[in-house]
Amino acid sequence: MAKKEALECSFCKRKKEETNLLIAGVDAHICEKCIEQAHGIVLEESTNEKEKGSLDFAVRKPIEIKDFLDQYIIGQNQAKKVMSVAVYNHYKRLLQKPVNSEDDIEIEKSNIIMVGETGTGKTLIARTIAKMLDVPFAIVDATVLTEAGYVGEDVETILTRLLQAADYKVDKAERGIVFIDEIDKIARKGDNPSITRDVSGEGVQQALLKLLEGTIVNVPPKGGRKHPDQKFVEVNTKNILFIAGGAFSGIDKVISKRLNMQAVGYSASISEDKIDEKNLLQYVIPSDLKSFGLIPEIIGRLPALTFLKPLDKETLRSILTQPKNAIIKQYIRLFEMDGIAFKIDEKALDFIVEKAIEYKLGARGLRSLCEEILTDAMFELPSSNETKLRVTKKYAEDKITKSTIKKLKAVS
Ligand code: ADP
Repeated sequence: MAKKEALECSFCKRKKEETNLLIAGVDAHICEKCIEQAHGIVLEESTNEKEKGSLDFAVRKPIEIKDFLDQYIIGQNQAKKVMSVAVYNHYKRLLQKPVNSEDDIEIEKSNIIMVGETGTGKTLIARTIAKMLDVPFAIVDATVLTEAGYVGEDVETILTRLLQAADYKVDKAERGIVFIDEIDKIARKGDNPSITRDVSGEGVQQALLKLLEGTIVNVPPKGGRKHPDQKFVEVNTKNILFIAGGAFSGIDKVISKRLNMQAVGYSASISEDKIDEKNLLQYVIPSDLKSFGLIPEIIGRLPALTFLKPLDKETLRSILTQPKNAIIKQYIRLFEMDGIAFKIDEKALDFIVEKAIEYKLGARGLRSLCEEILTDAMFELPSSNETKLRVTKKYAEDKITKSTIKKLKAVS
């Protein structure tokens, strides 16, 4: 028969007196310290499993990927389609095992480039993809990048962001997604780049090219040049998906010129009367990007090219209420948390859209307009006994004064 005084943790052998808690099992005991340690192990194991599993999860079929995007992004069907296929192929590529070494088919990376006015959803698409795949995601602005040695950020800092987003787990970062915004801003300026060094243009494109191609980069984990002592971390960019986006303002003229030339020539693929002059971006092809000033090598490394349409009235109206986390749904939730039932009339919504269009505020402006309309209510109502808020068109009109519109216009 077991002696009572011999009670101890069966794992670490600490005596009962040395523990705060000793839990008895059928044939054994465990102390609080061992429980904590075991719990840690369980957690670590389960995240490892999750990470292993997330790649399998990632391989949803293109139609499923698009279905997911549809929940968050209104319209932009072509962009969503191209994106779904590119992402699907990218992850298929990650999963392919080098079994058939005789057949040397190697699926190449399908980095993506999106052309579309600002505020049409480029970042939103990239962000939504990252959310769906549960991979680290970083947004970088190409305008801050410069060639090494110049004032600005070195191209490697792109990967610093990704590392940070991956909690410094290199293997996670190595299959993350990077969204490079405003890629058009590093276009080569003019046709003769050799006279002076084009710091913000071709040099950056060359540096970027290496990253896109897939290479091992020494990344400063803290970024920048402010921490000269930091140890570099090696990151292989082979499996990182790069999505570039840019407004390419003025590219419509390049496209139009090309289309007109085609229409005159024999090989006209689109006859002139069928050209949708209002939305020329839909005809964008890689050579237009070259005419705009991207070097051919960069274009070659961004093989999936797609466009985003300017947002029309109907789209803006839907953006207010339809996406999974639509702006209006967010306000409903915010007020709900204060016990206030929030309602907004259809006419008020139409008014917001009209103002966004009138003042060329785009989709980003929808949010600013809503804030203008609702700030007073959000300030006052939580301290009142009010349980309802109904926003009519008149209410919205009263809140949006001319001066605030000017302010919004200046911000956008
Ligand atoms: P871009 O990167 O093209 O400049 P964003 O993706 O940052 O534009 O879009 C700005 C905001 O506008 C987003 O946060 C989103 O709320 C809204 N938005 C833009 N386009 C759409 C769309 N097609 N569907 C839903 N929301 C959109």
